[in-house]
Amino acid sequence: MTLRVGIARDERFLEHKTGHFHPEHPKRLETVYRMIDRHFKDRLIAVPPEPATLEQMERIHTQAYIKRILKTADQRITSLAPDTPISADSYLAAWLAAGACIKGVDSLMDLDCDAFFALIRPPGHHALPDRASGFCLFNNIAIAAQYALDRHHLRRILVIDWDIHHGNGIHDIFYNSREVLYFSTHDLLLFPYSGELTQTGGESAPGYTVNVPITRELTDADMIYLYREILRPVIKGYQPQLIMVAAGFDAHTDDPIGRSRLTEATYRGITRLLMDLRSVADKPPLFFALEGGYHQRALADSIQAILTELLSDQASEPPDTPQSPEIVDLVANVRSIHSSYGVFHD
Ligand SMILES: [Zn+2]
Repeated sequence: MTLRVGIARDERFLEHKTGHFHPEHPKRLETVYRMIDRHFKDRLIAVPPEPATLEQMERIHTQAYIKRILKTADQRITSLAPDTPISADSYLAAWLAAGACIKGVDSLMDLDCDAFFALIRPPGHHALPDRASGFCLFNNIAIAAQYALDRHHLRRILVIDWDIHHGNGIHDIFYNSREVLYFSTHDLLLFPYSGELTQTGGESAPGYTVNVPITRELTDADMIYLYREILRPVIKGYQPQLIMVAAGFDAHTDDPIGRSRLTEATYRGITRLLMDLRSVADKPPLFFALEGGYHQRALADSIQAILTELLSDQASEPPDTPQSPEIVDLVANVRSIHSSYGVFHD
């Protein structure tokens, strides 16, 4: 069955200016938008973003922090963190990015589409309730997940974070929640240097966080194997009502920051896996929001691979026979650590 796929895009996301030498620059999205125009004209449902409301933002971020961001309006270039410069219209782009994710949740819950991709910037997964961090201002996915719990009365949301950096913001915000299960693969040697395998959730949500540190040697087949072996029991056991992906593409082999070996085949393969695994739960909709990814062509190619798979009724057959010897041990280790919690279900 072909899925109906919605996207959010907006020229105002390009107005968040970070300076000439910053990797998270407007050209990233410009390249993605050009790819969409070239390959997906009339095949996607437009879900135009609207700014989030103050109440929606305050469910995740502190009033003082929101005020601080709003005060940067019309200032030329300021810095919220050493690696997070912003410009006069950044506050609006960031506010709109969170709103785009909220609109996406509505479009999925109202059954206007089955899958949705927020093509937004600035990214969000490092943003903390009271602090910008790692190019992120507001935590787009956390805000949208909280909104889905509040407004649509969901009780189980699975967040998958395949950005090469650990999404410490989403991780910390929901560490004690059973309503959001956070699963992340990341390189511990990169910023923010968190996300140990043994961090499995807070006291009130043991087992509801699944951190999987990975090495740079993993191949596409290794990665797809890892995702299949972990996500199948997680989705079967947790029965998510919504699956949200923090979709960063900096684990791509061409990425200047991630230094990994993956190609767009990983993203296409995991997308097909998620489409298949919807059937072991109650067909939860699929939500994607752009996070990192700093090589323009690799970024556009990876997103194209995902959208192609979502729109295809002919399943691709991704490689999933593990190639690196350590991957089988890693998966076994994750499953053994989580075996006592009862979230995984074979
Ligand atoms: Zn990243």
